[in-house]
Amino acid sequence: MQKKYIASLDTTVSRLGFGAMRMPKSGDEVDTEAVKKMIDTAIAQGLTYFDTAYVYHGQKSEGVLKECLVDRYPRESFTLADKIPLWMAKSEEDVYRIFEEELARLGVTYIDFLLLHAMNAERWDTAKKWHANEYQQELKRQGKVRYVGFSFHDKPESLRKILSEGQWDFCQLQINYFDWDDYAHELYDIATEFGVPIVVMEPVRGGALANLAEDVTKPFRAACPEATDVEWALRFVASLDNVAVILSGMSNQEQMEQNLATFQDIKPLNEAEQQAVKDVMAAIHAKPLVPCTGCRYCMDCPFGVDIPGVFQIYNDYQMFNVFERSQERYRKLVADGHGVDQCRNCKACMKHCPQSIEIPTRLAEIHEILK
Ligand code: SF4
Ligand code: SF4
Repeated sequence: MQKKYIASLDTTVSRLGFGAMRMPKSGDEVDTEAVKKMIDTAIAQGLTYFDTAYVYHGQKSEGVLKECLVDRYPRESFTLADKIPLWMAKSEEDVYRIFEEELARLGVTYIDFLLLHAMNAERWDTAKKWHANEYQQELKRQGKVRYVGFSFHDKPESLRKILSEGQWDFCQLQINYFDWDDYAHELYDIATEFGVPIVVMEPVRGGALANLAEDVTKPFRAACPEATDVEWALRFVASLDNVAVILSGMSNQEQMEQNLATFQDIKPLNEAEQQAVKDVMAAIHAKPLVPCTGCRYCMDCPFGVDIPGVFQIYNDYQMFNVFERSQERYRKLVADGHGVDQCRNCKACMKHCPQSIEIPTRLAEIHEILK
């Protein structure tokens, strides 16, 4: 496993991080035996960065990491990242309660990387009102936290504001080649200007870049026939100097093994390979996709619409050119009561969407195509 020394923090991390938000499931519960096997494989090959959050897996992710990681490996042999969801706190004191609960759920006395979760301009105002960043600094002084940061879903100007008004050791940004020209490049440059190292989330854009349609990936095949689409996506972000850790929300053993293999000796893209990425991006951008990452912040819809599910089916149709299969999947969603026919246009979902998608409008368009 490639490691990265972060000079500003005087610490070394594994370049690949395990995102504990899409762990394998058995029925409705996380399959802890499968997770243990994935973690054993990861640790054996040098992956030491584990990223969780209070809200992942219906608030069970931290407990799963306690059982599968914390209780089975020496605490100093891995690093833990956890996040405080300010939207779930009712007061400043409630922020303290959530943090203490996180320590208890994980069964640890300290968290290595503590983030304010899914920050945007509005949440930063709440953070300031409740002195959340000062609280992070205090936890650092007490030795309960090693480094403080935030994950971010908003426009570049909000990132600049948060970085300039707070004190930060790192930040977590959504960066992938698909979004590079839209906003990711600007986010990367701002964090770099502030000297803040980056943890990348969604390098494969919620899986969307993992299996692209053959007509768009011809430049990849021409440049390197044996590399998978996932490898291209990971190598793109690994080529960025200020990227410390790259998170992958792995859901099974196979994904873990493939990612570990990629990160054994991951190489930056050379000039010809960078051009191949640009050519693929141009081909993808030419398709009318919905920029949904599957983060599910818009859920649950009060009327049962499976918003990310509908967008996923539509994007798959666009990227994979499989109309009949997509129509079949959409009709099943409708039959199960989760289709767009249930939408009442209440717009409750829209204020939670970090991608600013006009959700009901896009849903209605898709319904017309796939119904
Ligand atoms: S606008 Fe439609 S999809 Fe969004 S929350 Fe309301 S009913 Fe659900
Ligand atoms: S519609 Fe927006 S909030 Fe909902 S899953 Fe997609 S990106 Fe996330």
